[in-house]
Amino acid sequence: MVKSILKRLVSYKTLSADHATNLLALRWFYNQVKALPVHAKFYSLGGFPSLLITTRKTRQPKILLAAHMDVVNASPEMFRLQQKGTKLFGRGTFDMKFAAASYLATLKDLGPRLKDYDLGVLLTTDEEIGGEHGVKALLQKGLRCEFCVIPDGGSNWSIEQGAKGAIQMRVESVGKSAHGSRIWQGKNAIDQLIKFLDQIRALFPSEPCGMPDHWHHTFNLGQISGGMAANSIPDYAEAKINIRLTEKTSIAQMLRRLREIKRNYPQIKLTVLSATAPYRILDKAPLFRKFVSVLEQNRHRKAVFTRSHGACDARYFLMHDIPVVSLRPVGGGHHSEEEWIDLKSLEQFGTVLKQFLLENAKR
Ligand SMILES: [Zn+2]
Repeated sequence: MVKSILKRLVSYKTLSADHATNLLALRWFYNQVKALPVHAKFYSLGGFPSLLITTRKTRQPKILLAAHMDVVNASPEMFRLQQKGTKLFGRGTFDMKFAAASYLATLKDLGPRLKDYDLGVLLTTDEEIGGEHGVKALLQKGLRCEFCVIPDGGSNWSIEQGAKGAIQMRVESVGKSAHGSRIWQGKNAIDQLIKFLDQIRALFPSEPCGMPDHWHHTFNLGQISGGMAANSIPDYAEAKINIRLTEKTSIAQMLRRLREIKRNYPQIKLTVLSATAPYRILDKAPLFRKFVSVLEQNRHRKAVFTRSHGACDARYFLMHDIPVVSLRPVGGGHHSEEEWIDLKSLEQFGTVLKQFLLENAKR
């Protein structure tokens, strides 16, 4: 069953900006369960559709199963699920329509018994562009749960322990233009920008760093522009940088370090474009421990933990002190043309999920 659901979900080209197609996919999902004892609410926040399905008429179910329906773009053939051996290829198979498919299969499986449970399914459509109008906004509107399953991190069953934070910044450099033959009359904005950026870069370890998990702060100069001609001194240049930080440093501390360096550069302007704090999961929470124990029973081995270099919507739940579990079955290639999930592993994910709900979602 889960495979045919996933096939259908992959066929919707649910790019984050395509609200209409996302809404179609959410409506299709809802139509599959509307005869069951569930309540549903569609939201449109900032234009982005979301769907909350609960077994009780509440925005605060005990256990919430969350997934994002939106995907990043791919070639047209990626929107047709293809099986090669036990691998299912297609956009969103791993990131993360497999989860929505598992949730739907589980709801159908529980069927009329759902009335004995206190659980919810949340589908949002803006995770790939930050989650501001999905999970973040819904939590601001009062969405809560005791525990959230949000399998958008880790791979090969490893459980995500935390993720790095990220800061995106624009760096503007103002100089003074003059003819390139008379450099003493001008001030080169590009030279100044590069000098400044080099000093920032020196705050970060350089690669190869020797750390197998690269659990350190990183700096990337992602964009740079400036100048008109080789024989002219540029009076303006700008760059965009991306910094990733571990939980050892807060965003405020990092910004303080950058501004300290900036003090020596009055002609440089720094603007924070976005900032996401690093996080750690709440691994002492009783429902988290229970999920891990169900996983270990089914997999017949100890759970493995991992840390992520990117962030997902799990961080918003953690900001509200809601424990989450984030793990994925065997699969990979997310955001690439070779995205896949292993069907056997996906079915096992469904088994783990169902056992966890049977044991913990009754109220
Ligand atoms: Zn490294």
